[in-house]
Amino acid sequence: MKKIKFQSLPGMHDILPEDQKHFQRICKTVEGVANFYSFQKIETPILESADLFCKSTGLDTDIVEKQMYTFRTKGGDYVALRPELTPSVVRSYIENGMQSLPQPVKLWYEGPCFRYERPQAGRYRQFHQFGFEVLGDKSPAIDSQIIQMSYDVLKELHFKNLIIEINSIGDSECRPYFKKNLSNYLRSRRSSLCSNCQRRLKQNPLRILDCKEEKCQQIKTDAPQIMDHLCENCHDHFKQVLEFLDEAEMPYKLNPYLVRGLDYYTKTVFEIFENTPQGKEQGALIGGGRYDNLVKILGGRDTPGCGAAGGAERIANILKTKELKPLKVKEAKVFLAQLGNLAKKKSLKVLEEFRRSKIIVAESLSKDSLKAQLRTANKLGIKYVLIFGQKEALDGEIVVRDMESGSQETFELKNIVAEIKKKLKKLK
Ligand code: AMP
Repeated sequence: MKKIKFQSLPGMHDILPEDQKHFQRICKTVEGVANFYSFQKIETPILESADLFCKSTGLDTDIVEKQMYTFRTKGGDYVALRPELTPSVVRSYIENGMQSLPQPVKLWYEGPCFRYERPQAGRYRQFHQFGFEVLGDKSPAIDSQIIQMSYDVLKELHFKNLIIEINSIGDSECRPYFKKNLSNYLRSRRSSLCSNCQRRLKQNPLRILDCKEEKCQQIKTDAPQIMDHLCENCHDHFKQVLEFLDEAEMPYKLNPYLVRGLDYYTKTVFEIFENTPQGKEQGALIGGGRYDNLVKILGGRDTPGCGAAGGAERIANILKTKELKPLKVKEAKVFLAQLGNLAKKKSLKVLEEFRRSKIIVAESLSKDSLKAQLRTANKLGIKYVLIFGQKEALDGEIVVRDMESGSQETFELKNIVAEIKKKLKKLK
């Protein structure tokens, strides 16, 4: 019979042990920034009702129309693997009565997302997003804070050449009027648009502004710009966001074509790129914006919102090319070497006592020879090796060997954690 070889699915990938450090660094940085600004962590299920994303992200968006993994459960429910987290967080906010908490409610998250995209550099079918969401505050200060936090995450990860692209896409007062204006203009040039955009013209003309096709570039350049059609409220809001960014000296660039493609955005939208050819090709590292209608669309009380999401893989791909100092991880200074069956059996309990006292102890329980274990300890740069042999196990003792001086002392097993604690304290 032919042997079957299994491979991960296209666009899905393992995060191997050697790459874990990049992902850990990203998570730690996001968590640090979130904690600093008093954002609380939220986790939502990977599987949600497909309708949640149809209603919020939007039926006409690529994400819902082409990229969502959906299926019917055995019970007949139509569900989706989440393609993003904002709708889930808003669902949870409504479902768990967070509207009655003091506002704004500030939340952050991280976790896998799924989109059936054509796999290519920076585009995967399973990828990890982290994000920040603020619900219940319409102030432009919040938009700026979200942008600042997104920028801070990347700065802390040693990204140097960053650019924030920003735009305002208005609200339900001014956008319909602009949409009509834009549609009229685009319809007059329909035959010059790419086939995708010809279709978009009917459903969502704003998205044509986002099109990367060569054919549509010139048409975009001459198109009416939303900035000239914002209502007073949106105009004033956007002006204030920019003033905050100026004050914080953040490098932004107005991009009148940035619309971000999702249905729920209102007013501010932004994306942050690494300003290099590779960075541009890979796409935005973090993107977000304001979504003042989303809570209402999903059945909650009228509540403004603003947030951002970043892609861990895209960021990790760039981190891999940078030579960063390794993260400070606590390294073991103590190693437990055991000899003989009785000592091996009792070792688990000894290790557990050290773990409970928060002292990291390395071990190599699968090795039987003392020589091999000492060699491992040496490689790890261990200061103290605990030698636990048959005799010691019977007598309730343990030997401590100082690997630098070679000196050895015997202690009672019941006191060993306290004795090692004293020794480690002296090292500091
Ligand atoms: P979006 O929800 O499309 O605004 O995406 C937010 C961030 O998630 C982007 O800036 C990317 O960093 C990341 N992202 C989106 N789609 C993918 C994908 N298919 N593969 C990897 N990262 C992605």
